[in-house]
Amino acid sequence: MPKKDALSLGYQDWVAEMEALGEKRFRADQICGWLYKKRVFEWQLMSDIGLEMRSRLDELFRVEVPRLEKVVSSRRDGTKKFLWDFGGSSVESVAIAHPGRLTACLSTQVGCPLGCPFCATGQSGFERNMTVGEMVGQFLAMEARLGDIKNLVFMGMGEPMLNYDNVIGAVRNLNHPKMRGLGIRHITISTSGVVPGILRLAREGLGVRLAVSLHAPNDDLRDLLVPINAQYPLKELREALETYQEATGDRITIEYSLFDKVNDSVPMARQLGEYLKGLSVFINLIPGSCTGDARYVTSPPLQGERLCGDPVLHGVPGGGPDEQGGRCGRGMWPAQANA
Ligand code: SF4
Repeated sequence: MPKKDALSLGYQDWVAEMEALGEKRFRADQICGWLYKKRVFEWQLMSDIGLEMRSRLDELFRVEVPRLEKVVSSRRDGTKKFLWDFGGSSVESVAIAHPGRLTACLSTQVGCPLGCPFCATGQSGFERNMTVGEMVGQFLAMEARLGDIKNLVFMGMGEPMLNYDNVIGAVRNLNHPKMRGLGIRHITISTSGVVPGILRLAREGLGVRLAVSLHAPNDDLRDLLVPINAQYPLKELREALETYQEATGDRITIEYSLFDKVNDSVPMARQLGEYLKGLSVFINLIPGSCTGDARYVTSPPLQGERLCGDPVLHGVPGGGPDEQGGRCGRGMWPAQANA
């Protein structure tokens, strides 16, 4: 029988697995503590579990943390980009450094089917969805190298809402107090505007935060920059955001990557304000990070303003979310607005 993927199992799965082996519930707590809190990934090293049980665990379960291919560090701000090997596929995660805290940005798919023209991941096409264990593994593998990470955003390669069940599974594992215990308000799911996913998240009642990569204030431009807009145009997206906000009462982060002479004019800023009017949002203006079509170039900084720059997030439409994790929220224009 093939071994089960340990990092894809939820807490109740572990309880059930231990009961099936004739073990008490606390054995599930021990295992989750070793994997998620102590970040020990070899059964034989779990010293408070008897030798016989360790061998049994080894027979039945595999712990797959990704193999590190490469890590690139930004000298400017300490951000680290990790390239992992998942059985021959390369996937990226990013650890974004802030004074006193780290934010992890995880990938949710190998490749991406959405084809945003400024994004190399989108240009390379879609390979497959990532499992719960593969997403959890990215996070734990970064923590094993960097220590505790406080914030998490699903905003790397791929569209999280197209891998909804596994993303929610990873959120639950990382949030569960017997597992990683990461605060739910420190977790953000970022979407390019997949309306059914937003509506499902509104009903989920999880308390996780939502970010939307908008990048354009009208349908003509958004059809070009974020092609999923043809399927879920701005009117439909706006209605979904209203539903989400009514259901959760949560402020929504709007990610807006600025590309020179594409989406960065003052009239477009006004259109953006009109579009978001009445919603409680945090607008994160980000120097556009282009890894795809070279026609999309980062907007230059306004005179006298600081521009974050150094866009290292390949495949990531911008930096992290709002004040809890925003790598690039120190923007060109006032970064916060209640439209
Ligand atoms: Fe996919 Fe995000 Fe790239 Fe668009 S920007 S193609 S949603 S990974």
